[in-house]
Amino acid sequence: MPTNPRKKLIAANWKMYKTPDEAVAFIKAFLPLAAPHSHAEVVLCASPTLLPAVVDVARHHPIRVAAQDMHWLDQGAYTGETSPLMLMALGVTHVLIGHSERRQYFNETDESVNLKLKSALAHGLIPIVCVGELLAEREANQTAEVLERQTSIALSGIDPAAAAPLVIAYEPVWAIGTGRTATPEIANEAHNIIRAQIAKSLSPALAASTRILYGGSVKPDNTATLCACRDIDGALVGGASLDPVSFAKIVANSAA
Ligand code: PEP
Repeated sequence: MPTNPRKKLIAANWKMYKTPDEAVAFIKAFLPLAAPHSHAEVVLCASPTLLPAVVDVARHHPIRVAAQDMHWLDQGAYTGETSPLMLMALGVTHVLIGHSERRQYFNETDESVNLKLKSALAHGLIPIVCVGELLAEREANQTAEVLERQTSIALSGIDPAAAAPLVIAYEPVWAIGTGRTATPEIANEAHNIIRAQIAKSLSPALAASTRILYGGSVKPDNTATLCACRDIDGALVGGASLDPVSFAKIVANSAA
């Protein structure tokens, strides 16, 4: 029996970085470095302006492309927003939902995360839903409560029969972009809390099959220990995903 039967997923979150030319150059440099490491699925989360170029160059390779956010409606008078239909038309396969930077700076709420998750599943986009506690919440021993609340509201009203594509990313906010990584023990414990909530909200079978990624200052040298944990199924990588050599090392080191 394998220690973890779920296929690893390593996602790059490029945030508001790169021009189309830089994104294409990244992929061309990354592909030969990552080619031997088929144990993991690779997803690039890019800004809307990069998506056509990234989809085009990734098309014939085992790389999937994600938007970093989307509106839940198909269309409407919502200036500046991107709809799931627009993403599907471009060939985007995944979407990040509820990243802590969206929650912190752009009024993303647990309720809007839920609407976006329902919409992504209805449109056939693979959702990567981010949850995670603030430092003050961890210090006040509220981590479990926060993770259970974020996960249960995100999953509220989701039909278990449609939820198989779901991916969750545990991203403790205090570890994002700070260089302060959660220890494997802390991360694995949080993943267990999230998995237990998935079992309650959806089903034990979905809890067992849903991939839960860790995100927060993942680097080439801490990937292996994190990804060796029983409940960690990959990583969502910000800063260290901007460089193709560093990101390819993370993909390589995630084999566990
Ligand atoms: C992120 O942006 O989701 C992230 C985890 O960033 P970093 O790896 O830089 O902490």
